[in-house]
Amino acid sequence: MIHPDRIRHYHGAPPISGKGRYVCYWMQQAQRVEDNHALCFAIEKANELKLPLKVAFVLTPDFPEANLRHYRFMLDGIADVQRLLAQKGIPFVLETGDMTASILALARQAAWVVTDAGYLRIQRQWREAVAKKLTCAFTIVESDCMVPVAAAYPKEAVGARVLRSKIMKKLDVYLDLVVLPEYWMKNATLSNAAHTVDTSPPIQPEKLAARAAAIKTVSPVADFAGGESAAAERLKQFVSAALSDYGILARDPVAQCRSDLSAHLHFGQISPVAVVHAVRESDAPEAAKAAFIEQVVVRRELAVNFVYYNTGYDRYDGAVPAWARQTLTDHQKDRRPYLYGPEALERAETHDPYWNAAQMEMVITGRMHNYMRMYWGKKIIEWSPSPEAAFEIMLALNNRYEIDGRDPNGFTGVAWCFGRHDRPWAERPVFGKIRYMNAAGLERKFKISRYVERIRRLGNNI
Ligand SMILES: Cc1cc2nc3c(=O)[nH]c(=O)nc-3n(C[C@H](O)[C@H](O)[C@H](O)COP(=O)(O)OP(=O)(O)OC[C@H]3O[C@@H](n4cnc5c(N)ncnc54)[C@H](O)[C@@H]3O)c2cc1C
Repeated sequence: MIHPDRIRHYHGAPPISGKGRYVCYWMQQAQRVEDNHALCFAIEKANELKLPLKVAFVLTPDFPEANLRHYRFMLDGIADVQRLLAQKGIPFVLETGDMTASILALARQAAWVVTDAGYLRIQRQWREAVAKKLTCAFTIVESDCMVPVAAAYPKEAVGARVLRSKIMKKLDVYLDLVVLPEYWMKNATLSNAAHTVDTSPPIQPEKLAARAAAIKTVSPVADFAGGESAAAERLKQFVSAALSDYGILARDPVAQCRSDLSAHLHFGQISPVAVVHAVRESDAPEAAKAAFIEQVVVRRELAVNFVYYNTGYDRYDGAVPAWARQTLTDHQKDRRPYLYGPEALERAETHDPYWNAAQMEMVITGRMHNYMRMYWGKKIIEWSPSPEAAFEIMLALNNRYEIDGRDPNGFTGVAWCFGRHDRPWAERPVFGKIRYMNAAGLERKFKISRYVERIRRLGNNI
């Protein structure tokens, strides 16, 4: 059963007007069939109303900062969705164009429109714009957080400590795994349900991405496929092969003990509820499970809390806390031994082999190890002429090259480098009171030259 806190009705729902020829699930954030609370809700409504269901996805060519790399990964997933829905007898419509106009057109004869929840500004604007103009019932079902964001905490959390205690207490309440009901029209024949049958050709992710992406300068990552089948396989592999060591090795960039689920989570190709279930059910040590749940639930949902309640999450003066801006301003005139502009950073042309390796890991693989992301961000602050310039280039590079970029986690990770969700530390040049990281720390903690060597080999192979 779907927890009621996941469901938010707009006008007209329930009860429903009695008009309309179908139920429309506007799939946007939760780009999957399995473990999708919004899809489940939409099937339930179609069954109750004895109306056909149509699932619609709109491809917007101008999503902010999205490039070919992102479109390709996403469309791998949409091809999966099309295939899996077809197996369930549910028709799927893919449109390209303006989001709001396309959804309003697709929903013109709908009795009920259901969608999932998204947390970024543009996702919320789309939903508000659709809600304003729709005349039928409209419901948002939140499926991409373990604990629905407003139920977790009613305001911006200052740090993980505050949110952790709230979320962990509620975790069991929201472990509502979805069991998709059988769709009542599944076995309808072509003649009596012609208007509901999906006759569109199979999606070809490569071709469609090349057509849809306005920015084509960043190429797709060859050996890292998107989609819910790939995500499920990755989760299975991680739980069976690496989770047991996560508590000890997750911080080490050499060990590569990580799930690689962030891009799938970003595109909603896997449900966090399903991830938590799989982790809890595994026979890994409890400490390892707790360490992973800290990241995938507490840290990830702290990021959602941040972008949900802080409207300035992508601006220096909104994302960076006042104490951190003050201390960085106090140190604005400090001598900076190294200064690099955006081009040198993008091409990984700094004096620091560890930083260059991290940058290249991101450019080549579309991913970067979590610990190296922190180091990478801190160094950009150290080597930029101003903190504002550092913020801008850090976010731009992150969002350009990371497959999981443009995510609440990305905006929050960048803000964290500038002191968000952190505390003041001992004062030092350039950084003031914000936390500092250095190469000696990498050398002391890890066999970091092995990381550099691995990335160098990757670079040689392209
Ligand atoms: C400067 C900077 C930029 C970042 N940019 C992004 C980004 O664009 N997109 C993104 O998804 N993450 C970002 N992160 C957070 C984190 O680095 C990635 O989520 C993680 O490295 C993804 O790899 P994984 O899935 O193998 O993680 P795992 O270690 O396997 O962790 C499992 C999941 O937990 C969550 N998680 C792990 N670490 C964090 C964290 N620090 N904050 C929030 N959630 C976390 C992610 O959803 C991740 O998939 C950034 C962090 C920093 C410091």
